[in-house]
Amino acid sequence: MLRVDRLSAWYGEAQALREVSMRVDEGEIVTLVGRNGAGKTTLLRCLMGLHGSYGRTTGTVSLADEDITGLAPHRRARRGLGFVPDDRGVYATLSVEENLLLPPVTKGSQEPWSLKRVYETFPPLRERRRFPGTKLSGGEQQMLALARVLRTGARLLLCDEPTEGLSPLIVQQIGEILREVKAAGVTVLLIEQNVHFAATVADRHYLLAEGRIVESLDNDQVREREHELLEYLGI
Ligand code: ATP
Repeated sequence: MLRVDRLSAWYGEAQALREVSMRVDEGEIVTLVGRNGAGKTTLLRCLMGLHGSYGRTTGTVSLADEDITGLAPHRRARRGLGFVPDDRGVYATLSVEENLLLPPVTKGSQEPWSLKRVYETFPPLRERRRFPGTKLSGGEQQMLALARVLRTGARLLLCDEPTEGLSPLIVQQIGEILREVKAAGVTVLLIEQNVHFAATVADRHYLLAEGRIVESLDNDQVREREHELLEYLGI
């Protein structure tokens, strides 16, 4: 679904990504793990087509076998690339339902999720549909942010640290939500520092260090090395 080949990116003269190659297959959840400053945000920006205003890039990005390297962000979105930001981007003054009614439907990607389907998959959103965004818990906001992207018909979700700052119970709920998303056939690339969570929800993991992919790990490897990885990440 997503293929990145020898992607490099610079801020002026400073190189932030060094020949990153990775892939996320259809229906997979893959995490990208790395310490602060490793280049995770830069990689996400490159995938969304947003790095151009910061500096140059080389290498290629393909979505569903189509080279999207030169495409503007809105054209990538139309091809089914969805982004769930770390602050969740919920409109605080709008109700849950209004938040869900806002996104444009993209053509030629996944079947866009109807409101009915969203409410069936995420019952708490139905219960709270008249509530303003501010009245939702962190987990419910995350649910709304994901549901809103699914409404566009996105087939690949880029999720930036969905568990950051949330309690263990809510983290567990987010795991369940991501499993629902995966069961619906949506592919996910997740930035995640919580490697314990990553090993319960994802299929595979990439470790990014100083702008390079230094390791590709499966869940058993992450579980065996959980303490070492947490120490390395400074958590
Ligand atoms: P964090 O978890 O702290 O957000 P990260 O893994 O997302 O870290 P990036 O933000 O992608 O890392 O940063 C990668 C490198 O690029 C770092 O050395 C950082 O200092 C540099 N960098 C990031 N943004 C800019 C910018 N706007 N201008 C110059 N250098 C930048």
